[in-house]
This record gives sequence, structure tokens and C-alpha cells, in this order.
Amino acid sequence: MVSNELLRSERESISEHCKRMLDQGLTTGTGGNISVSDDEGRMAISPSGMAYPDIMPDDVPVLDADGEVVLGDRTPSSEHRMHRMLHEGRADVGGVVHTHSPYASAFASAGEAIPPTHYLVEFVGKQVPVAGYATYGTEELGELAAETIGEEYSACLLQNHGSIAVGETVEGAFETVLMVEFCARNHYLAANLGDPIALPDDELEHLVERFADYGQSG
Ligand SMILES: [Zn+2]
Repeated sequence: MVSNELLRSERESISEHCKRMLDQGLTTGTGGNISVSDDEGRMAISPSGMAYPDIMPDDVPVLDADGEVVLGDRTPSSEHRMHRMLHEGRADVGGVVHTHSPYASAFASAGEAIPPTHYLVEFVGKQVPVAGYATYGTEELGELAAETIGEEYSACLLQNHGSIAVGETVEGAFETVLMVEFCARNHYLAANLGDPIALPDDELEHLVERFADYGQSG
């Protein structure tokens, strides 16, 4: 019998961030999903097809390391395979947030990386790269996302789909998807004014290093 206290605070955090995702205009309907993992390979993930305002902590299922639901009555998000691969791929990943935010999704549909025309791209790396297309919910989509993010980035676009970010915590991953959307929107608006200026590579190196130090100092 699994205690209902298992990953309690993580399930509360997912419920809260689902609502924040709607409030911040990062998604519409039931698109997008959020997960948190623990040191034993368990993962709590938002449920499939529920309206975000209705998701309570008890509605967030917990899966064990084999992907079996061990707590909760709801069906896990259809993207649980992609989330699992991102948690397993890197030791520093504890939270994953996937959205269909409007400007980032537009770049994803154009198959275009978000260029480094605002310094806040440092949340992700020297750009926001694009993973090639695969059908939603498939392991292939998870593989493409994990390969594209690699060790170098903390987020990527998913071609013809949306964006996904990883962080040490769900709060960190959430902040990063907000920055991805901001950088996409900013580049789009700047391109309407003229030719957006990309930051030079040495400055990007410097920014990414500074950001890594900032992260470690809390
Ligand atoms: Zn999606």
C-alpha cells in the first residue's frame, strides 16, 4: 500500500503550476504537462485531459521507475514517456514543464530556433534549439527532445508542437518556459521593427557562465 503522502509536496507543486501555466498564458485548453521526479526514479506528472483549474494534488498520479502508476486514480499525461526520458537523461533534472505557448509554438511550427537577440536566452543556452518532428506521446519525441537539450541547454522547441524545459525543480523549469516564450515574442516583435541584433558568441559564453554561477549561488 502506497501512502498518500508519497511525493505530496511535489504533487501540490504540480497542481499549483498547472494553474500558473494558464494564468501566464502559456497554454490553452488541456495542452502541456508538468512533472517532478525523486531520487528513487519515481515521477509525479499532471493527469491526462483534465482542465487545469480542476487539477488538485490528489489528481496527480505517481509512477514508479518502471512507469507503472503506484498512486492516484487518474491517467498520467500522454507525454509521460518524454518526461521520463528527460528526468533519466540528466542527474540535475528534477522538474520538467511542457507548454504550447503561442510565440514559442509559432517558432516551432516554422522549424526555427529562437536566436540570441535578448540576453535572457541565457536561461536556456546560446539559443533555443528545435527538436525534429515526432508524433505527440511517442518515445521518439522523447528521444528527440533529450538529444536536442543534451547537456548544453535547459529547453528546446518541439517542431510543429511547442516547447519543453528542464530544471532542478519544477519552479526552475517553469521560469525557463516563461523565458522561452518571452524570447520568442521579443524576437518576433523586434523582427517587425527591423533586423534584430544577435548577441556575439563571446558575450553569449560570458552570459551562460554568469547564469550558471548565479544558479549555483541560489
Ligand atoms: Zn504537447
